Amino acid sequence: MTKTQVRQYQQDLMQLETELMEFLGLSSKASEAVELDQARMGRVSRGDAMQQQAMVSAAHQRDEKRLIAVRKALKRIESDDFGWCLECGEDINVKRLDVAPETELCLECQSIQEQGQPL
Ligand SMILES: [Zn+2]
Repeated sequence: MTKTQVRQYQQDLMQLETELMEFLGLSSKASEAVELDQARMGRVSRGDAMQQQAMVSAAHQRDEKRLIAVRKALKRIESDDFGWCLECGEDINVKRLDVAPETELCLECQSIQEQGQPL
């Protein structure tokens, strides 16, 4: 991977970090969005509101995990470890990185992990 490519991923990751922080309410912009949501919630039934809340919290957890992964990826860029699978040390396909620059594993290791097989 070239330095230019790494720099591009670094920019993507920094952008992602900002977006995720906004989603998670870690920036001042996000608290405005939450207030808007609450105003909208006033018009839905209590059951709907609770369901919505559950969905929001599931999304929240997913975003939190992603933010951690994004920050780890940024650290890997700083230490020149970006773009390699954390399990087997092979290059991660750039197509995977284009979709999700915080990707830590190559396709093979990822599918093994998703199947829950011992590594
Ligand atoms: Zn691997």
